[in-house]
Amino acid sequence: MNHYDVIIIGAGAGGGTVAYSLAPTGKRILILERGGYLPNEDDNWNPDAIFQGRKYQVEEKWLDRDNNSFRPQAFYNVGGNTKVYGAALQRMREADFGEIKHQAGISPAWEFSYQDLEPYYTRAESIFKIHGNKGEDITEPPMSAEYPFPALPHEPRMQEVADSLERLGLHPHHLTLAVDRNVEDPENSKCIRCATCDPYPCKIDAKLDAQVACIDPATEYNNVELKINTVVTRLITDDSGARVTAVEVEIGGNQEQYTADTFILSCGSINSAALLLKSGNERHPDGLANSSGMVGRNLMLHNHSSIVAIAGKPNPTKFQKTLGFNDFYFGSPEHDYPLGQVQMTGKSKWNRLALFAPDSVPQSTLEYMAEHAVDWWLTSEDLPEPDNRVTLKDGKIKVDFTRNNLKAHNDFVDMWQGYLRKADFFMFMVAQVPLSAVWHQVGTCKFGSDPKTTVLDLNCRTHDVENLYVVDASFFPSMGAVNPTLTIVANALRVCDHLKDSLG
Ligand SMILES: Cc1cc2nc3c(=O)[nH]c(=O)nc-3n(C[C@H](O)[C@H](O)[C@H](O)COP(=O)(O)OP(=O)(O)OC[C@H]3O[C@@H](n4cnc5c(N)ncnc54)[C@H](O)[C@@H]3O)c2cc1C
Ligand code: SF4
Repeated sequence: MNHYDVIIIGAGAGGGTVAYSLAPTGKRILILERGGYLPNEDDNWNPDAIFQGRKYQVEEKWLDRDNNSFRPQAFYNVGGNTKVYGAALQRMREADFGEIKHQAGISPAWEFSYQDLEPYYTRAESIFKIHGNKGEDITEPPMSAEYPFPALPHEPRMQEVADSLERLGLHPHHLTLAVDRNVEDPENSKCIRCATCDPYPCKIDAKLDAQVACIDPATEYNNVELKINTVVTRLITDDSGARVTAVEVEIGGNQEQYTADTFILSCGSINSAALLLKSGNERHPDGLANSSGMVGRNLMLHNHSSIVAIAGKPNPTKFQKTLGFNDFYFGSPEHDYPLGQVQMTGKSKWNRLALFAPDSVPQSTLEYMAEHAVDWWLTSEDLPEPDNRVTLKDGKIKVDFTRNNLKAHNDFVDMWQGYLRKADFFMFMVAQVPLSAVWHQVGTCKFGSDPKTTVLDLNCRTHDVENLYVVDASFFPSMGAVNPTLTIVANALRVCDHLKDSLG
């Protein structure tokens, strides 16, 4: 029998959380995931395989605004993009939920406040076993609980860097991380603090990604079924267009259909919008649930730059992603507009630097640089614009996107290098990430109470189709400058409270 109470499309952060939360209800749940299980193998931690070989990245090509084809840095697996994420899970700041004036425009308010999401952030931090020290981050929003586990301490060189920037008046904090590390008893710990965490998969499943944290526990329930390598190609409605009745899938070269009472779309912002647009019919001529014309619009990606900063001192740190700064999140004495957040990224290896360096730079130079480098990651908010949108062209996904709010980001990158110079760094490799790095994709089906201007209501149910929800990152009306996944998870838990009531 192919009929279910709930079908979840996509086993990433949003879909995984819904499966985890609904599994104990006993409802018959089917999860459809286009990828397979990412194998635990040596290449998980092999920089050549990850950076040069681009192993695990999707093969498909998307189009940019000029119809140039590019290979997105997206990952289709059980666990979605979280299989390779940096596991830095952060709450949005309290003020991010209100309207904020930026250098290039307005970041719009959400229709509920931080306090409405706060209990779900607390639950999300428990499910993802977050490590952090409450009270360190100067922009930390009010929290009703401590972090479940203490922060991962800095390795000696990172502690030195933190101390020297603190002497310049800055406020270092420990990043909040989703790794299964026993800080008090490291020998007795699943996570071994290796040098290949961000952006690698974890070979020993010690990273709390959406598979480990959500899908694995959910599929232990007999009422939850997961079909992998199953691409959902279309959502089918009844004649009135008011309800989805079935999904059409491709599995092993065959087409099949599955029916359900409730459908939860969670393919990631870009793919969810594309699937809705593909699923148009007579009742939904511009795409399913698109009477507002807003499906695919208001895509946001964050403005990101990496700064590889070289100092005279070697940096033998293995696990570098422990340090962050939010001193300039809302501006600086010289900038009356938000700049963004500073965090570390994975420790660079020479092969990663080779991706940014001219071919003429010899390997020995790159090796020297990597040995002395400290690797920073700067993220600034970008703003929702209806013209930044996902469409379909000849069946392909087109990401028609122009970056905005870049002056603030560039100011931020310049200013941070100024601080680093004062902390004895003397050479910088700065790279702004390209469009293909769609890691922080959000927006495309924003939520709100007005069906004329939003796709989803505040429960993330589509305004137009009564049994269709979207629970991935598509709902964000604005995104702050923090990493998005904890907010995706917290929101999905909030939606599940509503679903549990409505499923009966
Ligand atoms: C390298 C990297 C580093 C990152 N680091 C961080 C970090 O440190 N902190 C943080 O908060 N975030 C980080 N992110 C972002 C994070 O991974 C995403 O925000 C998060 O995974 C988005 O959740 P989602 O549910 O919207 O989509 P996803 O988790 O991507 O899930 C979507 C799922 O849907 C499946 N799917 C798509 N289309 C279909 C279809 N048609 N049929 C069936 N299944 C389908 C996909 O295969 C995928 O499994 C990082 C991402 C990357 C790539
Ligand atoms: S640091 Fe820990 S969680 Fe990250 S990849 Fe290594 S073992 Fe896994």
